[in-house]
Amino acid sequence: MFFRTFDAAPGIRVAFTDRGAGNLAPRVGGDPGAAAVSRRALEAEIGVAPGALHFMTQTHSTVIAEAGYSPAPEADALVSPAGTNALAVLVADCVPVVLVGRGPHGEAATAVAHAGRKGVEGNIVGLTVEELRRRGAGSIAAWIGPSVCGRCYEVPAEMRDSVAREVPSTSSITSWGTPALDLPAGVRGQLEAAGAEVREPGRDATWCTLENEQLFSHRAVAQGRPVGRLAGLVWPHG
Ligand SMILES: [Zn+2]
Repeated sequence: MFFRTFDAAPGIRVAFTDRGAGNLAPRVGGDPGAAAVSRRALEAEIGVAPGALHFMTQTHSTVIAEAGYSPAPEADALVSPAGTNALAVLVADCVPVVLVGRGPHGEAATAVAHAGRKGVEGNIVGLTVEELRRRGAGSIAAWIGPSVCGRCYEVPAEMRDSVAREVPSTSSITSWGTPALDLPAGVRGQLEAAGAEVREPGRDATWCTLENEQLFSHRAVAQGRPVGRLAGLVWPHG
């Protein structure tokens, strides 16, 4: 069910799911009922009430929403100012990022963010760090989850050059020698530039959604991998 789990801070856990958790996005895969069942199973596994895991309707924007409102907000970052909400971001090649901030009295503010190419161009992760700081977080730690890697994400040369003009660390070449974007490298650079401590950069082939068959990958569907989305999660526990 889990690709990786982390004890992020006292009382706060971070995790990324794998295909064992099933597809968690009702809008893809053609079986919303199955996605709902997978969500309930995931909530049971992490010890939160049914329906307590907060998702977003992700649109490749730079909109940041506060958790706790229904229906799920149209946003690409979700913040729990006191760290009391369980948060989820869904991806299948884009970069999932989980953030845990600590306030002056040790309390946590948490967030998740969705960074695809547009999110990197708009610096959604840097904006989310700023939002956590605005909410009182002093130190902020970040976990970068599985995504398509810089050796696999082939793009046209003009696109690579356009993104790299804004975020130089994204410039990459595929393992077969064509222009590529390294989104996790770009996200890492943006997090560090914003002053976050990157605890998990997620950057070897194991963390590549295209290369690791245990993960969902939009690009791998053409090769026969099932359609689905994996989750980056942060939640309070016991
Ligand atoms: Zn790769």
